[in-house]
Amino acid sequence: MNAESQRAQGLRDDLRTLYQEIILDHGKHPRNFRVVEHHTCKAQGNNPMCGDRVTVTAKVDRGTIADIAFEGKGCAISIASASMMTDALKGQSLDTARKLADAVRDVCTGKDAPAEMEPYLGKLAALSGVRQFPVRVKCATLPWHALLSCLDGPPAEGGQIKTPAEGGQIKKPEATTEK
Ligand code: ZN
Repeated sequence: MNAESQRAQGLRDDLRTLYQEIILDHGKHPRNFRVVEHHTCKAQGNNPMCGDRVTVTAKVDRGTIADIAFEGKGCAISIASASMMTDALKGQSLDTARKLADAVRDVCTGKDAPAEMEPYLGKLAALSGVRQFPVRVKCATLPWHALLSCLDGPPAEGGQIKTPAEGGQIKKPEATTEK
């Protein structure tokens, strides 16, 4: 029994290490770090608690996310979450994107994601590590709030982006000052 519980602990440690590796990898080498050309929507997420800022751009075509990318600055968790999000959502329907956003929030807040979403979660399961750190939950969910604002918001040009019900503050996109 004792050996068994040690093995279980060992497995949990391995998973934790694996999860850390996934987050560090995506945090250091983010995928889809760019602006989508001819994007149909754009939204920015801002997490002042940590200084994370991400801007999500997407091209939606007939109910499918044809392309999605992000730019921004922030901690490894926010950048990794955004990177994995863009990887997971390319080619998916808007319906799947919204369900996956809910599933990620579940995973980050210590709930079980619906079984039907597990195949879509994939590496995003690594974000479950943040549930032990409430402050980090906002880092992990920030890109997803920006995504929902992007999908629900007005077209890319002009208009007010609505504030999400919870989590990070979503601001109206600003002109970028970066060179
Ligand atoms: Zn952060």
